[in-house]
Amino acid sequence: MALGGNAMTSPDGRARVSDQQQAITGACVHIADLVGRGHDVVITHGNGPQVGNLLLKNELAAAEVPPVPLDWCGASTQATIGITVMDALDVALARLGIDKPTATLVSRTLVDADDPGFARPTKPIGRHLSRDDAQVLIDHGQHFVEVPGKGWRRVVASPEPVECLDAPAADTLLGAGYVVVCSGGGGIPTVRRSDGSLAGVEAVIDKDLTASLVARHINADVLVIATDVDHAVTDYGTDHEQPIGEVTAAEMRRIAEQQHFAAGSMGPKIEAVTRFAEHGGTGVITSLGNISDAVGGRAGTRVVPAPRT
Ligand code: ADP
Ligand code: MG
Repeated sequence: MALGGNAMTSPDGRARVSDQQQAITGACVHIADLVGRGHDVVITHGNGPQVGNLLLKNELAAAEVPPVPLDWCGASTQATIGITVMDALDVALARLGIDKPTATLVSRTLVDADDPGFARPTKPIGRHLSRDDAQVLIDHGQHFVEVPGKGWRRVVASPEPVECLDAPAADTLLGAGYVVVCSGGGGIPTVRRSDGSLAGVEAVIDKDLTASLVARHINADVLVIATDVDHAVTDYGTDHEQPIGEVTAAEMRRIAEQQHFAAGSMGPKIEAVTRFAEHGGTGVITSLGNISDAVGGRAGTRVVPAPRT
């Protein structure tokens, strides 16, 4: 299961400690319910607002303390979100009388060092800065672009996730009965050097695409992308929106070609569930409150493999 922003921040997107604890506590009630129904669950999550907070600290302190790289920000937020989920889930499971341990893996995602994103970074992150403030960070090696009328904004690579390097550990914990949190924020972006060693890199990875990979690595039956809408819809934002129910992967590819899904939000979720269905699983997009029904086949936008002929 992939948890989106609304499971980890307040409804207005704020990410104070209390906002995160409250939202995660709410999400964990639904996850515990799923566990109570006998499902083995692996959780992954986004980290955009949390990394945003760390970048702001980097920026405000850049003249005093060297900024920490994005792979470190990813590791930090995996840990803090992970323990928050574990504490909340432990309580929610205990309330249901379920005796199941929880664990969080600090986990890396392999990306291709030749991914086009590294040569031409395009993913904007952090705040808009003045030219002078941006210069301090440019001197630390960061890339910035000028956004007319708004200032300077950092851009980074957003490479395709290739492999979840720590998925075998997640699988082992799952087999030992744990509810596992892994690959948060899409996983710590990592490249393999020519000598075979691994190195973290400055990039951000889409959490929904990574969720799809994790689900494949652990042979999940269902990938649930829990977000703030019950369904994906066609003609989003118009007065003739239509919810999408159960479709095959091929049907979803045809719908996606008609540009119904926004690039930075619903687009990667659709891509993630469709890829998962193309590998034989069922991918569902729905809201947190619907996850049990979605796994049971009764809610959400559901992408299923092509029927066998
Ligand atoms: P998360 O934080 O859960 O990853 P996002 O905000 O990135 O969620 O994506 C969910 C949002 O996608 C919805 O709240 C909605 O505003 C937007 N969206 C864009 N296109 C569609 C669509 N075709 N159907 C439904 N929602 C859409
Ligand atoms: Mg969001």
